Amino acid sequence: MRLSRYFLPILREVPKEAEIVSHRLMLRAGMVRQESAGIYAWLPFGHRVLNKVCNIIREEQNRAGAIEMLMPTIQSADLWRESGRYDDYGKEMLRIRDRHDREMLFGPTNEEMITEIVRAYVKSYKALPLNLYHIQWKFRDEVRPRFGVYRSREFLMKDAYSFDLDAAGARHSYNKMFVAYLRTFARMGLKAIPMVADTGPIGGNLSHEFIILASTGESEVFCHGDYLDMAPPPADVNFDDPAGLQSVFDRWTQLYAATSEKHDTAAFEAIPEGRRLAARGIEVGHIFYFGTKYSEPFGAKVLGPDGKEHTIHMGSYGIGPSRLVAAMIEASHDDNGIIWPDAVAPFQVGILNLKVGDSATDAACGALYAELTAAGYDVLYDDTEERAGAKFATADLIGLPWQILVGPKSLAEGKVELKRRVDGSRELIAPSDIVERLK
Ligand code: ATP
Ligand code: MG
Ligand code: MG
Ligand code: MG
Repeated sequence: MRLSRYFLPILREVPKEAEIVSHRLMLRAGMVRQESAGIYAWLPFGHRVLNKVCNIIREEQNRAGAIEMLMPTIQSADLWRESGRYDDYGKEMLRIRDRHDREMLFGPTNEEMITEIVRAYVKSYKALPLNLYHIQWKFRDEVRPRFGVYRSREFLMKDAYSFDLDAAGARHSYNKMFVAYLRTFARMGLKAIPMVADTGPIGGNLSHEFIILASTGESEVFCHGDYLDMAPPPADVNFDDPAGLQSVFDRWTQLYAATSEKHDTAAFEAIPEGRRLAARGIEVGHIFYFGTKYSEPFGAKVLGPDGKEHTIHMGSYGIGPSRLVAAMIEASHDDNGIIWPDAVAPFQVGILNLKVGDSATDAACGALYAELTAAGYDVLYDDTEERAGAKFATADLIGLPWQILVGPKSLAEGKVELKRRVDGSRELIAPSDIVERLK
């Protein structure tokens, strides 16, 4: 992408309305724009990050055997009357009437709808286990939307729903998502800690929140410091081995980690003092096993191998991709701007033309741009008329992991400068060596 033809509305001033660094940087880097309180447009640069986040989530959901689909944002109130949640859900639910005066709502979550779908088609245990997910916008009329996309009213969620014949099967399905979540967040460069959590209005009795420690987090959390050193499960983990997955789960839950709602002071104080972490955290994912809470009122049953009817056991598994974008920035930035982990960087490489109009510089930039693009990199080529200083500032603000500085001085020696955003290190390198160097 040539910056001169892109849409990247950078703000030089620090927006006053933004209280936390991720919100400030997302506004300054032209990633999002508020359209109403807690409702954001994702501008092209932000949209790229959001897509990368969704793709990592997708790959790990698919690896764990979940199947993608897409449910609508608008749901009928009758569906929610079947579970009894229509009245319980309260003011967070945005209720709508259509032209025929039918009661509708903008979905805050999809347990009811997916249970209705599975009830309609699945009649035999042979179709189980099943895990269906979608990545779709949700609306919750948050009493205090704030911090930009961290707590917005309209937000993106990946929500998966598992269906099993019995509790043991459902437990295995839960562990699959648990392991998939550990891998998902690690791939984004995040240390997410699974913490024993309250189930809230979703219901059930087994639940973990995945929390990223951050001083700006809204949750109060308590855990063992060793979590920060644990390596995530490998890509070839066998999702079809219940005992193997249970042992991964056990290893990741043997140390103390709980949110304030589930905090047990005695257990926390049993941790050696130097390893106790009482911190603030950002909830980026949340998984639940809730048995037959929805399948029972919906009458979602299958015929078992014993020839009898069994009510399906269910779980649900949420991740907030839009909140994750903010969480990643909270976890990875400096005074100059965002520092994207390579896996989610909207562009992996920036080319900064330091003397637009100089024919040798233009030609070197053009050649590098073509070569890197052909090699499969997402490249942002700053071919604008801005001063060099402004180009450096922009590239750092928007967090491009690799920046190639191309100007007449180093070109005279047959070199360009390659800069690594994360530590600011620079090296002189021949343009022909760049592709090899980036590998
Ligand atoms: P919170 O405690 O922050 O209000 P929640 O517990 O209500 O979140 P869940 O119902 O568990 O949220 O939803 C699954 C995921 O969706 C959350 O872990 C979070 O990543 C994301 N999410 C929930 N509410 C919001 C929101 N208002 N804005 C952005 N993401 C959200
Ligand atoms: Mg909430
Ligand atoms: Mg919560
Ligand atoms: Mg939650």
